[in-house]
Parts: sequence; structure tokens; C-alpha cells
Amino acid sequence: MKYFIGFRKGSVMLGLLLIGLLNGALTSAADLSDNNIKQALRDAYQKYRGLDEGENADYIPALAEVDSSIYGIVLVTAGGKVYTEGDVKSEVSIQSISKVFTMALVMDQDGTQELVQNMGVDATGQVFNSIVAIEQYQGAEMNPLVNAGAIATTGLVDGKDYDEIWGKIAREYNEFAGRELEVLEDVYQSEAATNQRNRAIASLMHAYGHIDENFLRATDIYTRQCSVGVNAKDLGVMAATLANAGKNPVTNKQVTSAENVPEILAVMATAGLYDDAGKWLYKTGLPAKSGVGGGIIAVSPGKFGIAVISPRLDAAGNSVRAQKAIADISNALGGNPYEVTPR
Ligand code: GLN
Repeated sequence: MKYFIGFRKGSVMLGLLLIGLLNGALTSAADLSDNNIKQALRDAYQKYRGLDEGENADYIPALAEVDSSIYGIVLVTAGGKVYTEGDVKSEVSIQSISKVFTMALVMDQDGTQELVQNMGVDATGQVFNSIVAIEQYQGAEMNPLVNAGAIATTGLVDGKDYDEIWGKIAREYNEFAGRELEVLEDVYQSEAATNQRNRAIASLMHAYGHIDENFLRATDIYTRQCSVGVNAKDLGVMAATLANAGKNPVTNKQVTSAENVPEILAVMATAGLYDDAGKWLYKTGLPAKSGVGGGIIAVSPGKFGIAVISPRLDAAGNSVRAQKAIADISNALGGNPYEVTPR
């Protein structure tokens, strides 16, 4: 304040105003300060540590065997700072979270209209592997984040054979995560042996002209993509890549075109948590994607990506602890993009 002594009263007022404004700016920037982020992660971790509601998925036998006590939280800022709490080493299968990244791959390959025309971008309001939803509009008016749309999306990836298509998908996921991921073979085998329903879905999508005659190959590649092993940190970096306009903030590589990202996030917002997507958006405002392996990723655009792994699921197939922890952390850090202060 010494600086202002000797100036006219007006200047002092102006100075105070500037300090006030600066303070305001600092306070809102402080929402994402190191300390606030660490505190928010710690609080959510502690609060839900003892929560054991829900069950592992068991319609894929190998998922029932996964240690249901795994609980890890990772937040990665759009600037690439990584914050962790709990178990960030244990890997689970990525499952439906993979659908987001195959979607990104196809958007880069064909432009964004192909998906809109093929299986649409509307929420079905039905469970993720609904057959009724396919029947309702003959495989249209769906989206790439439910099984029917996701298998059709995998079927759109160009390549002369299985290996070439798989290679492209694996590379895309590796670049999103910033490291070489591996398929959890036991999960793949277990799901491949029990995926009659997904084969039926693919067959129906073929019958309605949304996927070519290689629909069983697409189903198998889809099953493989769902079996990719990820830890909470991998998922956090993948989410942060979406928060940072498709550029991995840790490796600094542009993984998918920045233009795709608002559209990917829009489908995540409406359909990422399946038939519970509306409730989730209402609570958090965040585009997110869950998988029956127990992971959920959520994106606060331009701010951060967050991931939680905890295998116990609710009836809609979404991790119970992950939903609660992400909602708390994002709300504590001002992550909801719909929430602004009036001017
Ligand atoms: N691979 C799983 C399936 O097709 C993925 C489902 C999910 O994560 N919701 O059933």
C-alpha cells in the first residue's frame, strides 16, 4: 500500500480496485492450486475408502475375480501435472471406456459425419447392451458409446486384416495413455468365451446395414479392446488428453484432432454413464465414461481429467466409489463447466 501514498484519493481507490481484482483472480486460480487438488483427492479417498456398496461385474467371469478393494484416484491437469491417491498401480480392464478412443480413431479416419450417419449420437436411455434399443430405430439413433454403436465403430476402422486394425486401435490407446498398454489375456479369453450377446448385437447391426459382413471379426476386436489393462494413472492421462483438446499433456503429442474433442465430449456427456448419464450430468456437469472393469474417466474441459478405479458397480454398471469420488473432487475444484459466477 505504501506505493499509493501521496497519490490522489482516486488513484488510491483505483489501486485498491486493482488489488481487489487481482485477489479475485488469485482466488479462482487457487481452486486448482496444488494444495486444493491434493486436499480434494485426499478427502474423497478417505471419505469413500470404507464404502463397499455394489458388486463386481460377473457376467464376464474373469471380472468377478478382480480384487474389489482396488481403489485409486488420479487427476491430471490440462498442463500435465499428475496427482494421485491410493492404488494407482493395479490394472483393470478398460472395458467400455475404450469406446471413447476407438471413436476418436474413426473420427480422425473418416471425419465426424460418418458416425453421425451410421449409428447417430443420441442417448438410448437403455442399458449399455440393449437389444431393444437397436430394434427401436433399426440400429440408428444410437451412439458409439453403447455396445451396438461401439462394435459398429470398431467395424469402421480401416485395415486389410485383423492385425492391421488391431494395431491401429492399440496405437491410439497407447498414445492417449502415453505408454504401451497390454491386453489382459485372461479377461479377453473369458469375455470371448461368453460374448454371445455382443455377437447377436453385431449380427443385428449387420442386418440393419450398420456394419459390414465382418461383424464377427469386429466383435472380437471390440472384445480385445475392452480387455486392455489400465491403471488409474493411465486413465487419468487419457482423460487429461481429452481435457487438453486431444493433446496428451504429459507426452505433448497431439493424439486426436482438436476438432473431434467437443463432439466426443458431447456424446460422453449424454451417454457415457449409459442410462444413468442424465443423473450423472445433473450432479457434476462433466462428460465422463465408465467401464464394467470399475474405471470411470471424467473431463473438465481445459482444466483437468480425472480417473478413479474401484470395481464394485451399481445396477447401471457404473463404479459406485468412482462416481462419488469424482463428483466430490470436481465439485471441490470448480470442475463443473456449467457453473459460473455472475458478473
Ligand atoms: N466388454 C463389455 C461388454 O461388451 C463392456 C461393457 C461395459 O464396460 N459397460 O459387455
